[in-house]
Amino acid sequence: MAFLEDWIPMGNDELGHADMKLDVLNFTSRTDVQTSTSWGAPIIWDGMFIPEAYEQIHRTAHTSVALTVFAVGKYLDVYLKDLLVSSQIYFMVGIPVTYYVFTDVPEKVPAIYLAPGREVKVMPVKHHSRWQDISMMRMMFIRDAIDSQIQHHHQYVFCMDVDQVFRGHFGTEVLADSVALLHAHYYFRSRKEFTYDRNPKSLAYMADTQGDFYYHASVFGGSWQSVRKITDTCYRTIMGDKENGVEALWQDESHLNKYFWEHKPSKVLSPEYCWDTNIRFRTDIHIQRLIWQEKHYKELRNKEN
Ligand code: UDP
Ligand code: MN
Repeated sequence: MAFLEDWIPMGNDELGHADMKLDVLNFTSRTDVQTSTSWGAPIIWDGMFIPEAYEQIHRTAHTSVALTVFAVGKYLDVYLKDLLVSSQIYFMVGIPVTYYVFTDVPEKVPAIYLAPGREVKVMPVKHHSRWQDISMMRMMFIRDAIDSQIQHHHQYVFCMDVDQVFRGHFGTEVLADSVALLHAHYYFRSRKEFTYDRNPKSLAYMADTQGDFYYHASVFGGSWQSVRKITDTCYRTIMGDKENGVEALWQDESHLNKYFWEHKPSKVLSPEYCWDTNIRFRTDIHIQRLIWQEKHYKELRNKEN
């Protein structure tokens, strides 16, 4: 067990966000993994933090979190309930959370038990015929929800895919100005293997010499101000591509990767925060906090084009 002095309070450095002043992270508790980026952002692994310390800070600060999730078409039937129910036990426990559920079938949003301080807001959206558009247009809907509602109620916004389920603590230690997630399939690979967009005609294009990490678009977040910038920029670059008749290799994820290359995240989450259990065993994964659900693309998605 580390002594309290080993838990290094971070200074209010150039990342400049208020919560950074209060962070307590032990960067040397994990010697098997990289615990900070080249630009000084923490990479959060199990063992680096005391959950209660963070909770205390955020309760005192009256932190409130918006979680956006899209459940359009059949994705609602298959995934939404598991995500919402499991989040009651593991996601931001002790902190007020509002779920913004974007769906084309509002009447099907399941009524579930909500812990005190939690509520569900249903946001009606149109069902785009292409799954790629459903995924990409999330950027616009999140931006608009920040403008119309979220900015008035929450300091932080987290944006998640619906096809995943909580299995472990996923708490206030993830909160920071802008937050990106390491992709479970790429964090141990080299840059040349990252599947960034390689088409120079796309606004998501990245050259071989560019890129820090391959981030997974299934979880990103930050202050509402930062998430507004992320979603607004990605929406504009996605629409720019549409005008030019191109689509990035991994749609919104490619645009998000480009964004985080140009605007470095102030906190990075290890793949413990979104693990694919098909990757059998890796000694560096000490806990599975959120895991991928099985994908059933054929049954769930509209035709690919
Ligand atoms: N989505 C949806 N309905 C669809 C397609 C996508 O609600 O028909 C939403 C859902 O939140 C999903 C996310 O868009 O998790 C991204 O799509 P998906 O999870 O299929 O992408 P993948 O994880 O395979 O990259
Ligand atoms: Mn997904």
